Amino acid sequence: MAQRPASKSRRTRQTDADAPVPVPRSLSALKAEAADCRRCPLYRNATQTVFGEGPARAAVMFVGEQPGDQEDLAGRPFVGPAGKLFDKALAESGIERERVYVTNAVKHFKNEPRGKRRLHKKPNTSEIDACRWWLDREFALIKPRLTVALGATAARAVLGRNVTISKERGKPLPLDNGGTAFITVHPSFLLRMPDPEVRRREYARFVADLRQIAEQVTNNRRAA
Ligand code: SF4
Repeated sequence: MAQRPASKSRRTRQTDADAPVPVPRSLSALKAEAADCRRCPLYRNATQTVFGEGPARAAVMFVGEQPGDQEDLAGRPFVGPAGKLFDKALAESGIERERVYVTNAVKHFKNEPRGKRRLHKKPNTSEIDACRWWLDREFALIKPRLTVALGATAARAVLGRNVTISKERGKPLPLDNGGTAFITVHPSFLLRMPDPEVRRREYARFVADLRQIAEQVTNNRRAA
């Protein structure tokens, strides 16, 4: 198990995701394997597996929830409206997207067809835990020093337990592989806010969280 804080829940949960994770040959080999994944039912209703992307030695890994409609069609993570907001926030916080690895906790788009539209559906716990098979292998290969969980689904995947974002947001959480996790909101949470003033305020908080990450990366580089 590459990422998860030492905790009581770790000792009590025994799934195949707890088995030692063999280090895959490369990200491209892992991506090719994931393309045929049938570990949970979500592949049935999606176009393709949307795997993570970014440098194989990235110091920072961002983990989102799952691909959305546009990501599902493009086969790339964070390219839809939430991805555009994420890019803007990264740029404002001084983080270059090309230097970080971006992935999702769940790699198929869970949706419910409604006429010509496909409505987003939140992945459940068993789907998140099934897809951790792939996330664990991304961790094993990349070994990020910082892992940023965007929202509750990502936090569950990274920490292996349910998390209340408001309680644990912005705190460095040590992981058992020596890395550190940070939790913040998912950019789609900001897009769903109906009140423009509240949305502006929450966006500023999100950028402040990312600045904290950028600062941590700089401190790690100085210490290395
Ligand atoms: S969501 Fe994850 S575990 Fe489920 S089929 Fe897709 S890649 Fe496999």
